[in-house]
Amino acid sequence: MTISGGWKRTARGAGLLGPDGSIASTIFAEMSALAQSTGAINLGQGFPDEDGPPEVLEAARRAISEGYNQYPPGLGMPVLRDAIATHQKRFYGLDVDPDREVLVTAGATEAIAATLLALLDAGDEVVTLEPFYDEYGAIVGLANGVHRTVPLLAPHFLPDHDRLRSTINDRTRVILVNNPHNPTGAVLPKETLELIVELAHKHDALIVTDEVYEHLVFDQPHIPVASLPGARERTVSISSAGKTFNTTGWKIGWLTAPREILTAILAVKQFLTFVNGAPFQPAIAVGLALPDSFFTGVAAGLKAKSRLLSAGLTAAGFEVSAPEGGYFVVADARPLGFTDGAAFCRELPRLAGVVGVPISAFCHDELAAEYSSLVRFAFCKRTEVLEQAAAQLAELQVPAAR
Ligand code: PMP
Ligand code: GLN
Repeated sequence: MTISGGWKRTARGAGLLGPDGSIASTIFAEMSALAQSTGAINLGQGFPDEDGPPEVLEAARRAISEGYNQYPPGLGMPVLRDAIATHQKRFYGLDVDPDREVLVTAGATEAIAATLLALLDAGDEVVTLEPFYDEYGAIVGLANGVHRTVPLLAPHFLPDHDRLRSTINDRTRVILVNNPHNPTGAVLPKETLELIVELAHKHDALIVTDEVYEHLVFDQPHIPVASLPGARERTVSISSAGKTFNTTGWKIGWLTAPREILTAILAVKQFLTFVNGAPFQPAIAVGLALPDSFFTGVAAGLKAKSRLLSAGLTAAGFEVSAPEGGYFVVADARPLGFTDGAAFCRELPRLAGVVGVPISAFCHDELAAEYSSLVRFAFCKRTEVLEQAAAQLAELQVPAAR
């Protein structure tokens, strides 16, 4: 008997497999491959091109030498859980129990997946902002949830409060917040975060907050959702060492949540990766204990880089939004005569030797048109790389008639 295609149903239903069975690879992997094959400067996928603090790297080497090479405990190594709890207290005044309210994960990616898979029943609604980090749509799809979004419109990319009120409803199981926001660089104002908490109470929804860029906020203190009145008992807070310590390849992330919610998430997580990254866990504990000057230095350095790349893009003729945090700047290619950002990104290596990511890749089809000419560029790169990219973009050959 020939095998039927029925086994493809879930991945296909979630939009992860094409009709011909091919994999819909992530936009980040696709654009990094394009940069590699063309030799273009990769401002697509968000990863730094230089190492983070030497103390952290050295601590990982030491941990390997000292034999931290077997499975760590399911919740994560105590030294890291303690460091995460201390970090929450030090930066946000939050009291977190390291033995019951902290879970170390394989990057924020696994934290997001385990959380949504644990909390969603089929048909439950998840509300996110749009554009959204691509994983959100994929996991909501795998959980057979319903993904609803509130648009972030240029130039400020902040959500309309009435749209939040009309989108969050009694079927909403999870409000999934991403702040600072990828891909727009927006930082949500306190009033918006407070409204989200209010709506979560009103509709008995949980809040999942992806704050992987928590230390990359340029001109204001980061406000964790969990620190707002009434939020803690219904909030799962997710972060990652990758961004703060330039260790995206180590895949050390974590979440903090009330005990009962964390237990449900752990029940799923133990069958995803079980555990990961033994020698990297104590190294990230060293990172989380670095002095304040390290953390302010990271934010100041990235702010300078965001301004450098933004100036280069503006000089090249793009209309540029001013990011307030994170790794990315959004540039509108329309003033240059390009209305299709996806086509533009495919041509950009040839036109200017630079790779970016179309914002439409972070959108559902219905909203993609709204963002069609917008492109995300990463500025988490060395200054000389950004200068070179800016110089090349300034030479951008604009086709005569488009
Ligand atoms: N959430 C957001 C908003 C991200 O930008 C990323 C990737 N940088 C992740 C989650 C995944 O983080 P990690 O690499 O720790 O899995
Ligand atoms: N978060 C990174 C970005 O937005 C990429 C992560 C990935 O490739 N999955 O570029």
